[in-house]
Amino acid sequence: MRIALEQASLGAQTPGGAEVGAVLVKGGNVVCGTFNQGNMQNDPTAHAEIVAIRKGCEELQSMTLEECTLYCTLQPCGMCTMACLWAGVSRIVYGAGRGDVNAVYFETRHANTVDFIRDAFRNDLQVEGGVLNDECAALYQAKAEKPDGPLDPAHKPTKRPSF
Ligand SMILES: [Zn+2]
Repeated sequence: MRIALEQASLGAQTPGGAEVGAVLVKGGNVVCGTFNQGNMQNDPTAHAEIVAIRKGCEELQSMTLEECTLYCTLQPCGMCTMACLWAGVSRIVYGAGRGDVNAVYFETRHANTVDFIRDAFRNDLQVEGGVLNDECAALYQAKAEKPDGPLDPAHKPTKRPSF
């Protein structure tokens, strides 16, 4: 998680990068580390976890990431959780969770990572959260307090759907 935090800091300092980091580990070895690159790549799917999955699969020359642990500084969103399921990641370890950064990251309309995994009937994907919780949350919240704040539309407040 320390490496993921370093990646998140790097993302915060990189134009177009963002302060969310992810590291993929297999057999005790770091496969790759990365950060959110959405604005860098003009790609709203380029969350740190997705970039790590893409790089990791390329590095390992594999479609699956079995026996891999994905460390991420924030609890993965629904998209990234589903990507972990599709990639066959064995374990997710995250830092700050929904409740820690709720005002700036997760809204009530975001599904919970744990719900996705439960609903996918996967009982072989382990999830642990709260690792270096405060440091991971503080890094993200520091950005949110800047005047320009989070940029992508997923962070804008919305009304509860009426359907
Ligand atoms: Zn995500």
